[in-house]
Amino acid sequence: MSEIKFFSGETVPLEMHKVTIVQKLELPPVEKRFKFMQEAGNNTFLLNNRDVFMDMLTDSGVNAMSDRQQAAMLMADDSYAGSETFTRLKDTLEEIFGTPYFLPAHQGRACENIICQTFVTEGSIVPMNYHFTTTKAHIELNGGSIEEIIIDEGTKVTSEYPFKGNMDIDKLKNIIKENGKDKIAFVRMEAGTNLIGGQPFSLQNLKDVRKVCDENNLILVLDASLLTDNLYFIKEREECCKSKSIREITLEMASLCDIVYFSARKLGFARGGGISTSNQDLYMKMRELVTLYEGFLTYGGMSVREMEALAVGLEESMDEHIISQGPQFISYMVNELAKAGVPVVTPAGGLGCHIDAMQFVSHIPQNQYPAGALAAALYIASGVRGMERGTMSEQRRSDGTEPMSNMELLRLAMPRRVFTLSQVKYAIDRIIWLHENRHLIEGLRFIEEPKSLRFFFGRLEPVSNWQEKLVAKFREDFPDSL
Ligand SMILES: *Cc1c(COP(=O)(O)O)cnc(C)c1O
Repeated sequence: MSEIKFFSGETVPLEMHKVTIVQKLELPPVEKRFKFMQEAGNNTFLLNNRDVFMDMLTDSGVNAMSDRQQAAMLMADDSYAGSETFTRLKDTLEEIFGTPYFLPAHQGRACENIICQTFVTEGSIVPMNYHFTTTKAHIELNGGSIEEIIIDEGTKVTSEYPFKGNMDIDKLKNIIKENGKDKIAFVRMEAGTNLIGGQPFSLQNLKDVRKVCDENNLILVLDASLLTDNLYFIKEREECCKSKSIREITLEMASLCDIVYFSARKLGFARGGGISTSNQDLYMKMRELVTLYEGFLTYGGMSVREMEALAVGLEESMDEHIISQGPQFISYMVNELAKAGVPVVTPAGGLGCHIDAMQFVSHIPQNQYPAGALAAALYIASGVRGMERGTMSEQRRSDGTEPMSNMELLRLAMPRRVFTLSQVKYAIDRIIWLHENRHLIEGLRFIEEPKSLRFFFGRLEPVSNWQEKLVAKFREDFPDSL
């Protein structure tokens, strides 16, 4: 792997690539950052990217392409039907997943639309290790409901359990027994479980889920959007897989599932998405919806350039040195923060570093959005943009009361191949500074609150002048620094 041991004894992640195209960044001084945060209504979604130093909002569609991907884009074969580019992409997927059938779609949620319209009916149930926002919405839109049956360890903030994304097999059996197998639309496993901090499931767990599906004649669907992180962790943490190659593990995982779908905004360092299967019946059932919603079967809403980049990006995803980069940078960040006493979700997962705001700013009540307040404070202190994943991301009930989230997380996503170690060290340093001064951080309140998806567009204000005090303390500690 690409972690390297220094003579000093320290182990650090080493970038296994060199930078050949760069994008200039700005780091506005703290006074300006304060002003920009006010203008953005204390909502990091409303910041202008040009005012952001490190954009750690998401890993979606912001991963860096390689020279080989860019070169492939120039050779794209643009035709409505039967393009060579599609054939190359389909062949790549067949090689890595062992699946002869591929349905292209414009992004991950488009795959979910097709799968859910095909298999979910009024009253049907989809058991899954954990939900993702768009998945749940599509299942409910088609009259179904979800059953989240992650193992208990999965939702504990601090843990040493290596596979927090595992499904609880007994709970799965119970759901089938209680509702009858005819009620189950399909069983869904999400690789690198997004909303609980990019946590993996084990290959053994997937085998156990498969066994239950076989016994009950159920379809098993894999959401492979965050597959590379899960692959890395299986190889690192699961005894049976230490000597297997990433390719072998990928083939084995895919062979256990009936349908594999993914967002190529995450998997394959590209854009787009698609659905792979070896089952011709399932393929035929979903095919028409692709032409209806996405486009003809040989592009599905993607541009041919995107498809070329994706085909090469998927190949690169089978390279241990390439896919280890993200999790190792995240692990470095999580461990350095934990050493300094900053509360973080452990063990480190894929996707990003998750700070536990419930502990970090334990003095802020949940109805004043501790994770949102921390996101605003971190931008002011550093120019780093993260995403609130807590009560602000919840929706009010129909009677106007607010459900309190069971976790208050500030997610700092690590786009793949984008940041250098010194940038990550900068983020760590400023988070530690903020933690030392956490008593200065106070809550937020809405001044504009949209009815749905309030976390995207809502505007808030600080409950006091705490942000002025934070800026003053920053200037005192860093008189000459940005
Ligand atoms: C991002 C994501 C999706 C949705 O993909 P989009 O391309 O954003 O539509 C689905 N599942 C998981 C696990 C994801 O992380």
